[in-house]
Amino acid sequence: MFRNPSSWQQPATALGPPLGLGLFLWLSWNLPDPWFWSLVLGLVILPQAAGFATTIYLHRYSAHRSLRLRKLVAWGFRCTLWILTSVDRRQWVAVHRKHHTFTDEEGDPHSPFLHGILRIQLLNVLYYARAARDPKTIQTWAPDISPDWWDRHLFGHPLGSYLGPIGGVGALVLLLGPNPGLVAAFLHAVMYVFGLSSSINGLCHWWGYRTFPNTATNIPWLAWLTGGEALHNNHHSLPTSPSFRVQSWEVDLGWIAILAMKMVGAITFVGKTISQQQQEVSRV
Ligand SMILES: [Zn+2]
Ligand SMILES: [Zn+2]
Repeated sequence: MFRNPSSWQQPATALGPPLGLGLFLWLSWNLPDPWFWSLVLGLVILPQAAGFATTIYLHRYSAHRSLRLRKLVAWGFRCTLWILTSVDRRQWVAVHRKHHTFTDEEGDPHSPFLHGILRIQLLNVLYYARAARDPKTIQTWAPDISPDWWDRHLFGHPLGSYLGPIGGVGALVLLLGPNPGLVAAFLHAVMYVFGLSSSINGLCHWWGYRTFPNTATNIPWLAWLTGGEALHNNHHSLPTSPSFRVQSWEVDLGWIAILAMKMVGAITFVGKTISQQQQEVSRV
């Protein structure tokens, strides 16, 4: 079942993003302050905050129950997602669980095998919205998540859900000025919607290496940018694992954040990882 990638190239590409971040900071260092922060917030800090909230709260906690969060911490993630993405947690969980059930077969809401890589890469948000808006999707795939006061009145409310992003854009404009603030908001939206999210559903089912026999792939350099999500082949092999890392050189920043949060008591339970479960199987 387990096989190593055949060359040194995959570990080497994993070094790309940290080097790229260094180059980006070096090149933009001399820009006037509002524009420097516009680029840093729009391209790095905001998409990363949204990405970590997505992988830890929506994906590993809500969809797969691979860890448990303290209530206040879970609320903090929901609030972050409300401002930075406006995603409804029940819709996200339902669409994602449907994807796991019908991975790359008829019924998968966003498969590059069914719809083509370019369509998923560019139009992933439309495929997601189509599945999310179907009331049957939530009834079938997320019946365990009942809407609470916050869902009904704000985070999942048809109008309230937009107050978060509007407030976020307003805060950026106040902080940086109109043009740098709007550019930061635009860059963040493009990075999250057309870069990070669509790459997991598109690229990570199409290009990269496979350690386990499923149709998803691992892309180590993209894992740096997506809080570990791009170790997607590993994740599809055992979705209930709270860590997506299998090889020693694979970097899952989401998992590192989970371990840090466990250390300070923000996370109360962490399930068994892929590697721990593999060791248990090999001992039997
Ligand atoms: Zn997948
Ligand atoms: Zn999953």
